[in-house]
Amino acid sequence: MYGIFPKDDPDQVIILKRFFIAAASYLLALGVGLYGVFSGHSFISRDWLPIIITGLVATNIYFYLIIRTGVNKRFAERSLSFSQIVVSLTWMLFLMFTDAQNRGVLLSVYIMIMMFGLFRLRRRQMFQLSVFALCGFSTIVAIDYFFFPFRFDLAREALRLIVLSGMLLWATLFAGHVSELRAKLRRRNHELSTALEEIGKLASHDDLTQAYNRRYIMEALVREKARADRTKSCFSLCILDLDHFKLINDRYGHLSGDRVLMAFSERIRGTLRGMDLVDTDSGSRFFGRYGGEEFIVVMPDTPLAGAMRCAERIRKVTEEEAFDEVFRVTLSAGVSQYHPGESIEDTLHRADAALYEAKHRGRNRVIAEDHSASSEYELPVGDSTITNIVVGPFGAKTSF
Ligand code: GH3
Ligand code: MG
Ligand code: MG
Repeated sequence: MYGIFPKDDPDQVIILKRFFIAAASYLLALGVGLYGVFSGHSFISRDWLPIIITGLVATNIYFYLIIRTGVNKRFAERSLSFSQIVVSLTWMLFLMFTDAQNRGVLLSVYIMIMMFGLFRLRRRQMFQLSVFALCGFSTIVAIDYFFFPFRFDLAREALRLIVLSGMLLWATLFAGHVSELRAKLRRRNHELSTALEEIGKLASHDDLTQAYNRRYIMEALVREKARADRTKSCFSLCILDLDHFKLINDRYGHLSGDRVLMAFSERIRGTLRGMDLVDTDSGSRFFGRYGGEEFIVVMPDTPLAGAMRCAERIRKVTEEEAFDEVFRVTLSAGVSQYHPGESIEDTLHRADAALYEAKHRGRNRVIAEDHSASSEYELPVGDSTITNIVVGPFGAKTSF
């Protein structure tokens, strides 16, 4: 249903609420006018009332529709405060001119209209409005002076002009102050959201490798499990462990080890990205640092065979090319597929057991473990069946 306020745009709701407050000030002015007309304290003829009322209602409907339909979003100043104030001031000038008897009361509404710009407009805009308001009021006073001398009282009008000028000056200065505060607040908000982004990244990423950290991966696995249970889909994971990594540290120093970890992480990232681009059926695979020189790859919508292919690809790109041009490293990987009903720990445990088996059988290989038979499976070659043997190059091909 088309409500008075839009349901999905809080900014527009605020603008509309402000509009309704402005509409209420029109009602106030109209009330003053009607009182004047019906109590005989007004120069406005009753014949004019329908025209004035129709004009005021039409003005309000016009602005309401512009805001409610979202046309206002096309303008730099979405709240349309400036144009609404100009139109209101013009109406009020007309009323003050026609109803000179109640000009004093209407003048307070005239000043009140300016207040709507205090929290929205910049000092320059407020100054322009003030000039407009002052010139408008001076014009009707001048018209009275020249054309309606019988109702002109110099002292009274001069006092009104002085009060109006003072109020307008105050409004301009105050609006300038508020707009400076708003700018400061915007800057602070920006800094805050940048800091929050940074904190979010620090909380979810590993400092050294820029891969997701263990905490993030564990949370992501909980989400994956929930999604797989809900949509009856599957996912697999793979734990990677660099072979004989300790030797790199021992021979070349910890810093060299760190550089290998960074380069390795970068290489997996690139490999997974490349695979995602080709293999559009699977959801985005992601990886994180599980701890030390162990990493974990999560593969949404990927059954065991696909996960093994992915792990095998990572194994290959790892051994293919030296890291930092000198460090040749291999990895062992354990793969498991999540099975409905089991816990994340079960899935991880099976991948860990497969990794252990891969190490045991000579490293530099990928092994998957089936949850029911606890047996290892080979990556299907040629046809799609999975058989009961170890995958990967047979015999250790480690560099150390
Ligand atoms: P394996 O083939 O059995 O996995 O042998 P390994 O040497 O890789 O395994 P081990 O668990 O004995 O040693 C892991 C090493 O990884 C020990 C530790 O010094 C190193 N390591 C862990 N985290 C970091 C790190 O952040 N930076 C560096 N440079 N080394 C790390
Ligand atoms: Mg290792
Ligand atoms: Mg390890």
